[in-house]
Amino acid sequence: MNKNQIMDKAEENLLHVYNRFPVVFDHGKGVFLYDDEDEEYLDFASGIGVMAFGYGNEDYEEALVAQIKKITHTSNLFYHEPMIEAAEKLCKVSSMDKVFFTNSGAEAIEGALKTAKKYAYLKKGAGDYEVIAMENSFHGRTVGSLSVTGTEHYREPFYPLMSGVKFATFNDFGSILANLSDKTCAIILETVQGEGGLYPADKEFLTKVRQLCDEEDILLILDEVQCGMGRTGTMYAFEQYGIKPDILTTAKALGNGVPVGAFAVTDKVAVSSLEPGDHGTTYGGNPLCTAAVSQVLDLFDEYKLLEHVKKITPYFEQVLDVLVNKYDFITAKRGLGLMQGLVLTVPVKEVVTKALLDEHLVVLSAGKDVLRLLPPLVITEQDIDLFKEKIERVFDTFS
Ligand SMILES: *Cc1c(COP(=O)(O)O)cnc(C)c1O
Repeated sequence: MNKNQIMDKAEENLLHVYNRFPVVFDHGKGVFLYDDEDEEYLDFASGIGVMAFGYGNEDYEEALVAQIKKITHTSNLFYHEPMIEAAEKLCKVSSMDKVFFTNSGAEAIEGALKTAKKYAYLKKGAGDYEVIAMENSFHGRTVGSLSVTGTEHYREPFYPLMSGVKFATFNDFGSILANLSDKTCAIILETVQGEGGLYPADKEFLTKVRQLCDEEDILLILDEVQCGMGRTGTMYAFEQYGIKPDILTTAKALGNGVPVGAFAVTDKVAVSSLEPGDHGTTYGGNPLCTAAVSQVLDLFDEYKLLEHVKKITPYFEQVLDVLVNKYDFITAKRGLGLMQGLVLTVPVKEVVTKALLDEHLVVLSAGKDVLRLLPPLVITEQDIDLFKEKIERVFDTFS
């Protein structure tokens, strides 16, 4: 099929829920993607924060191929080694105690919400528990995860959603208190808001939320689906705040391209929440996906990837600062580690499209006015220089 045939067939057969860019990607190598005509694109989006090692990583591929040749799926009715290994490694790097593997980020959120509800149910008996979520947050597209997503226009067509969700203002502790009631069972937030526009939690805010949760025996759910897995320079962003969640959600880069997520809980939560019969999944944690997780976590060590992210971040930030100073229409830079955004007063959608089509540079938007950059974690200074050249040529057309 040529490009036009592919695009036509997509319209014919796929439910139209995405306005896709007119590009057909065929393969990738390192931080570069290649389209159907073998044209090269620099990728500063990583498939929305998924491809931490970039494309075509041989260590990763070998581990997957080996697992495919053994077994790709059994079910959760049996044991298999890849899941057990992945769970042990994930508990270790997250400092959580028990993990449940899912197939996506949204499913990790579903599991986290059910866990919090069950925890409160066991503590206080039946009741209509409330969850405090954040305005401007994003937690996924399933009904439960949508219920705690703070963008009204995503939610509105699907009311009624899960009841008892209250929205507080991110980084405003007073707003949390204003939404608190004796029915509150959990507070859910992204340690760094991704889709909402690259807002890191303030340290004081998160510390106070943690304290409040301890005092009231409310569970703190940190959604690190986007900001976790080394993206900010620590395996999980919460490590930089000196606090720990009761429930952690993780996905995106967890499998470096295979669909896998997880929620992880502390022992305190594990002993008094979900029990056999309460939760399950057919695919979740299958041998293929957990072999990928296991290999991803090994490769973080082997490549010293966290050190690399810490080392390369100042260079990236410096380049972004140069851009902020150079172009009047960039009003701010925001983010943490290799999760950065530039706030623009020119239409971000146009910038993203121009970058892709004219400069073969893949970037993302976030919120209504933020250019979002999520490069593969393995980027080098040379890649960042190439990014700068390309994005400057795009920005020049807006000056
Ligand atoms: C992407 C994302 C999700 C949803 O993950 P899916 O795998 O798309 O279901 C949830 N939370 C955050 C913070 C995300 O960035």
